[in-house]
Amino acid sequence: MTSAKRVLLVEDDEMLADSLAEQLSQEGDYTVVRAGDCATASTLAADGLYEFMILDVGLPDGDGRELCRGLRTAGVTCPIILLTAADSDADTIAGLQAGANDYITKPFRFAVLMARVHAHLRSHDRSEEAMYRIGPFTFRPSAKLLLDQKSRKIRLTEKETNILKFLYRTGVMVPRETLLNEVWGYNPAVTTHTLETHIYRLRQKIEENPGDARLLITENGGYRLVP
Ligand code: CA
Repeated sequence: MTSAKRVLLVEDDEMLADSLAEQLSQEGDYTVVRAGDCATASTLAADGLYEFMILDVGLPDGDGRELCRGLRTAGVTCPIILLTAADSDADTIAGLQAGANDYITKPFRFAVLMARVHAHLRSHDRSEEAMYRIGPFTFRPSAKLLLDQKSRKIRLTEKETNILKFLYRTGVMVPRETLLNEVWGYNPAVTTHTLETHIYRLRQKIEENPGDARLLITENGGYRLVP
């Protein structure tokens, strides 16, 4: 199964990049997009949304911090973690001033890198800037909006937004009862029929053919969001 959660990994050390890419793929539902230099990274970054980015500071055609600054200027809002060989305060400050969320000094343990990534993803999720890719749409939870490829706006209700957010974040099939409890809380007055009604309306908004759902599919008695 391919995933919508793309990660941009920019690292010219091929052994490290191979190892990181492998661990990221095993970590979860990430599709790792790789670059070994700033130029390729900029091109790839312009090609849609990423869940997060990992940038090496020492790249053959430039400095990862400058790359980071350029990406922020170009409108990239996702978490960016820098990999640095230097461990001086000056380098750290320069990295954070360039718009990076965090930095990690080589050599590092993968678990430590991912702990930082997850912490930044959590706060990013709550931020106004969070944007995700769902099929042909850009999903902006804070604005309760989906934008299609022509930047046309599709307005979502609070519940619809929360349903999409939860399904996106989970990435796997979610049983109806679980989704119901996540979005409505434990409320005996709300039944799965309520959820089904909301799913029906969501499909009217996002599916090309709502009767034959391709994005928000029914699977084993639950729902799954397909990339
Ligand atoms: Ca390097």
